Amino acid sequence: MPPASLAGKPGGAHINNFRKSLLAWYDKNRRAMPWRALPGRRPDPYHVWLSEVMLQQTVVTAVISYFFKFVEKWPTVHDLAAAPVDNVMAAWAGLGYYARARNLHKCAKEISARDGVFPDSIEELKKLPGIGDYTSAAITAIAFDKPATVIDGNVERVVARYFNITEPLPAAKKTIRQYADFLSSGRGDRPGDFAQAMMDLGATVCIPQSPRCGMCPLQQNCAGKNIAETLPRRVPRIEKPLRRGHIYWIMDGKGKILLQKRPERGLLGGMNGFPTSEWVEKGRPGHPDFIKRLIKNKKSQKNRVVAHSFTHFDLILQGWIVETASIQCGEEGFFWRRSDDLDRTAFPTVFKKFARLMID
Ligand code: SF4
Repeated sequence: MPPASLAGKPGGAHINNFRKSLLAWYDKNRRAMPWRALPGRRPDPYHVWLSEVMLQQTVVTAVISYFFKFVEKWPTVHDLAAAPVDNVMAAWAGLGYYARARNLHKCAKEISARDGVFPDSIEELKKLPGIGDYTSAAITAIAFDKPATVIDGNVERVVARYFNITEPLPAAKKTIRQYADFLSSGRGDRPGDFAQAMMDLGATVCIPQSPRCGMCPLQQNCAGKNIAETLPRRVPRIEKPLRRGHIYWIMDGKGKILLQKRPERGLLGGMNGFPTSEWVEKGRPGHPDFIKRLIKNKKSQKNRVVAHSFTHFDLILQGWIVETASIQCGEEGFFWRRSDDLDRTAFPTVFKKFARLMID
């Protein structure tokens, strides 16, 4: 029976039909992914975990090359656990949300210490670093074929449309979860395939614009198909705040550029970058003290501007060229690198953009 709050909505027979139609569609239309097992085989939990952590906040197309790189460098969770964390961070550069990479490495160590065996329940998985509600459910269903409600953006869209949920997001998340739970919980048939089928349907048929209802296995009973493009509704987005700051191209006069390993905590934590000022939303950004001295001595000039958009804010950094050999390596994570080695240095995207601007 549906939960009380879903009274009046489809009953068990309808839902069984939903699952049957969807799974039959999936058998013919499943997306091939490098981390997915061939039909009839069980996937490697290491591959499922790695891909699901990479897919947090990142689209499939961006993840595929990183997934290949990681499994080539570190074929097992023991190999990943034994790698220096700096190598893992460098391999992750460009994928964003760098706390994920640090947690990935911590989690690999914990799994390696358990003889490489991943837990197979949501509760136990959630005790591991970097594994939250979504990832624990995805690993439970996909790697271990156990019932779990997996809700990503694609699933949210399919459920909101199929059940014609017109309440706007984010408030509608609770209702969507109730329906999604009802579709997946306690129904033993192919839970892993069901979770992936929902995602694949949302990614390839029930797409955000111009959904392909004519080829959808759920079209017969879909309550929202006439207004599908308007669902799920959302409260209007608030414009992102703009932060400003300075970024410095500091040369030693002998072909080297000053870089800085950023502090472990905070945005882009533990990653290599160019020295910057603080990034502020209000007022004018100031220069760090060591730059102020150089500016006073007229050893600097304004140069290019780099713009970058993070999830929660936009950023504009004023570039400066500074010449000095007086900065000590080691202090505040500073180190020098030859300018012709910069294109082989692993940077987050904002610093990669700055390096390209300065080199081109
Ligand atoms: S019929 Fe259309 S709106 Fe309904 S689930 Fe299928 S693609 Fe989405």
